Amino acid sequence: MSEERIVIVGASLAGARAAEGARDAGFEGEILLIGEEPDDPYERPPLSKDYLRGEKDQLTWVHDAGYYGERGIDLRLSTFVSGIDPSSRTVQLDGANPEPYDRLLLATGCEPVSLDLPGSGLSGIHYLRSVADSAALRDQLGEGTRVVVVGAGWIGSEVAASARQKGCEVVLIEPREVPLQTVLGTRLGGVYRDLHIEHGVDYKSGTKVEAFLGEDRVTSVGTTAGEIPADLVVVGIGATPRTGLAQLAGLELNDGVPVDAGMRTEGECIYAAGDIANQYHPFYGERIRVEHWANARRQGYAAGRSMAGEETFYDDLPYFFSDQYDLGMEYIGHAEGSDEVVIRGDAESREFIAFWLREGRVLAGMNVNVWDVNERIGDLIRSKQAIDTAALADPETDLATIADPVQAAADEADSRSGASHSAGRAGGTSPE
Ligand SMILES: Cc1cc2nc3c(=O)[nH]c(=O)nc-3n(C[C@H](O)[C@H](O)[C@H](O)COP(=O)(O)OP(=O)(O)OC[C@H]3O[C@@H](n4cnc5c(N)ncnc54)[C@H](O)[C@@H]3O)c2cc1C
Repeated sequence: MSEERIVIVGASLAGARAAEGARDAGFEGEILLIGEEPDDPYERPPLSKDYLRGEKDQLTWVHDAGYYGERGIDLRLSTFVSGIDPSSRTVQLDGANPEPYDRLLLATGCEPVSLDLPGSGLSGIHYLRSVADSAALRDQLGEGTRVVVVGAGWIGSEVAASARQKGCEVVLIEPREVPLQTVLGTRLGGVYRDLHIEHGVDYKSGTKVEAFLGEDRVTSVGTTAGEIPADLVVVGIGATPRTGLAQLAGLELNDGVPVDAGMRTEGECIYAAGDIANQYHPFYGERIRVEHWANARRQGYAAGRSMAGEETFYDDLPYFFSDQYDLGMEYIGHAEGSDEVVIRGDAESREFIAFWLREGRVLAGMNVNVWDVNERIGDLIRSKQAIDTAALADPETDLATIADPVQAAADEADSRSGASHSAGRAGGTSPE
């Protein structure tokens, strides 16, 4: 492998971590990391939080500025990759010569889903993905600015919270009953609805946008609940994987780019990681695609090790976090909002742990303003055991004692021996 060349498309979290993973695994060949954005690889979570509120000027870099040079990683910014030719193993760059690869990683992430309605082209309608988007928005968030946020998913909810914290008048529009309903279900989504209302957000459930109104710039939003005045609008109705290059390479697409447990696509020497990868997950025994920071960070790293020739299988449990006002949460696992919910603590006091269960097994857990329990929740999920829900709900019962650790270890060993590409957790999670 040492003479070979790795090319990574997408110089963000998954891509930069993949370069790190390949070097850590001993890959000595060339690494070319290409991204269309002008900045060194950075992390996006602050863009809807402290960076958006102007509390923080610096971006959170994936690596220090000197890192890429020190590790022999050729970082090429402001460069768009417009094509892939798998037969000659080259990628086509806009305005430059094709670049050859021996291993290619697609880490092109997601883009916001756009609303195509009358008036969608008016100025003052924003989407949020990049630092440029966040900077454009934060310049306009001020005391009394009337902000209409369309969609109460994670991005919309965080933007609504940040805008309120900046003194804006905020209307949050959501077609479902509560924020985050598909992920959290109605009861837990209700905690977020109440939180926003308490902080002065005008939350409009069961409401759909029909048009944006104004001359050149948006001045109001037409909705099923009537017209809402707006100085600016932020649309956060989800993100979609950027699969254009994968399509040009002739790869199968199925909710992103399908990959195996070592992040290999069906295309020869082509890998995918981060938001675009729909990975066969050995623990779940099915493909899942995760649009969260920890997955891009860890799966990207594991993909780098895999490209360096290390037998890798990535089976970290999905994890994410969100901060809104003074409510911080972590979520681990993979469940539907419609799964059974058990709550430990008092949801109304906003210090609790929620568990989602199916057939008595814990699939996911969310700790809200309760810390240092995430690993324990992960242990319960990995145990795959039917759990005593009374013990789960009882804050006096130590979480560590709920699942039988001996049985859990045996179950884990069984699940691993049945997993494809399995040769231990080779670099899936480390270093963090
Ligand atoms: C505002 C915001 C807040 C978030 N907050 C949280 C949070 O609190 N918690 C959490 O868990 N997750 C959060 N996330 C999600 C998390 O940031 C993503 O999961 C993560 O960024 C995915 O990383 P990635 O490297 O796969 O993709 P991306 O970060 O999207 O990076 C893909 C990169 O590829 C580049 N690219 C794409 N196509 C090409 C091409 N053809 N040529 C060159 N370059 C290309 C793009 O410009 C981009 O730089 C947030 C996301 C956003 C947008």
